[in-house]
Amino acid sequence: MKQYILAMDAGTTSERAILFDRAGQLCAMAQEALHLDYPHDGWVEQDAAEIWDVQLRVCRRVLAEHGIRPEQIAAIGITNQRETTVVWDKATGEPVAPAIVWQCRRTAAQADELRRRGLTETLRDKTGLVIDAYFSATKLRWILDTVPGARRRAENGELLFGTVDCWLIWKLTGGRRHVTDASNAARTMLYNIRTLDWDADILRELDIPACMLPEVVPSSGIVGETEAALFGCALPIGGIAGDQQAALFGQACWQPGEAKNTYGTGCFLLMNTGTAPVRSGNGLLTTIAWNIGGTVEYALEGSVFVAGAAIQWLRDDVGLLEHAADSEALARAVPDAGGVYLVPAFTGLGAPYWDAYARGVLVGLTRATGRAHIVRAALESMAHQTADVLDAMQRDAGLALQSLKADGGASANDLLMELQADLIGVPVERPACVETTALGAACLAGLASGFWESRADIRRTREAGRVFHPQLDAARREAQRAGWRRAVSRALGWAKPE
Ligand code: ADP
Repeated sequence: MKQYILAMDAGTTSERAILFDRAGQLCAMAQEALHLDYPHDGWVEQDAAEIWDVQLRVCRRVLAEHGIRPEQIAAIGITNQRETTVVWDKATGEPVAPAIVWQCRRTAAQADELRRRGLTETLRDKTGLVIDAYFSATKLRWILDTVPGARRRAENGELLFGTVDCWLIWKLTGGRRHVTDASNAARTMLYNIRTLDWDADILRELDIPACMLPEVVPSSGIVGETEAALFGCALPIGGIAGDQQAALFGQACWQPGEAKNTYGTGCFLLMNTGTAPVRSGNGLLTTIAWNIGGTVEYALEGSVFVAGAAIQWLRDDVGLLEHAADSEALARAVPDAGGVYLVPAFTGLGAPYWDAYARGVLVGLTRATGRAHIVRAALESMAHQTADVLDAMQRDAGLALQSLKADGGASANDLLMELQADLIGVPVERPACVETTALGAACLAGLASGFWESRADIRRTREAGRVFHPQLDAARREAQRAGWRRAVSRALGWAKPE
């Protein structure tokens, strides 16, 4: 009887159930969209009950549609949208409020208040994070402050908090397990990534009752079994990781200095920095990559706000493209961008510039500039911004990047991959299986259940993807990077009031 790992991928806009076999092959998938609600400007919420219903439905569907019996599932791995905050009643399992989604800005003022109280350095040291409404802490605080009776009930031990992984596991185990893993805990801004405990000082500062927080368990390890009634037999849950960390694991970035980049609307970069947390001098986040067998590994995390979104902009607003994928052929029509640089600082610039007043610029135009040059400059802007973050990570960590693992929608663009390799001077590897997030969760669960014996065993299953080697010599690379930095200098501070 063929065995599989069932990966649950609880994303922000959709949830998926994916089956992987022992050869690491993706054998079956079911997916369903999730609703997002925007009740006020800047607010983003979801129905936690729907998050559970949809996840259960896609799991049942993937088994039914492919004729797979529950006994064929060796273990379940869970990966999830991070930071999103759910609070529910311990007795009834009813959420007491809509889930507050990571993107939600409703607690921006609370985050400002924490900064005003001088907590920036303390929180940075303890949690590795830069104070922001993005993380779960202020979202949880908001629910306790605004839902009638919530604080009293939480103090009485009647309410539970969890990120989406935790909520799903609580539902899967019929309320028997209230757990999260270290990679998810590290995104709450309540968890001390050095002592590996919920931080009593932070809980006191934020007035959050410790009794509502989950137990933090390893990212790979059997944490419980599903209620037998859900799938027809009890299934072990063996892996948990936040989506970006799961992708880092799925991309086999298991050594310090190995990094992955997800090329989507924005870019999400993570670099494995080994068993000690690295403090960034460039505003990058320090986070837990995973805890396996009691060994915690850390990562530096950075993001690019506008990456594939620059291509979307050229398509939808400027009208230079019909489809995003056309950008490749068009940009290949010219040998280079002809000295043109696009800095898509539409909403300011993040790491390592951190300038909220930066705005987009298109520079270096001449009478010879055509559509193809501008499209090529947009692709180059994704690669340059990624190179900026990677430069910062290497400086922070004192590690030299050996190669970059790529995934995400825009990684399908071969020219982008070539440009990226040229601009960072190391190979870019795009795996055969681009479902790296689900694969990462499956690997964590598979290691826990003995489905795979070791990471080496997993590595043997990997099909070679495609490797893009740098073609540019160091002098030309540096010239292009210097041109980019000059272009960025034109973008900085643009919207700052005089
Ligand atoms: P997300 O998960 O962030 O919604 P995806 O991983 O689906 O994004 O990637 C979609 C983004 O990638 C869009 O911004 C789109 O413009 C860009 N994109 C998709 N395909 C290509 C391509 N072949 N070349 C360049 N950009 C692309």
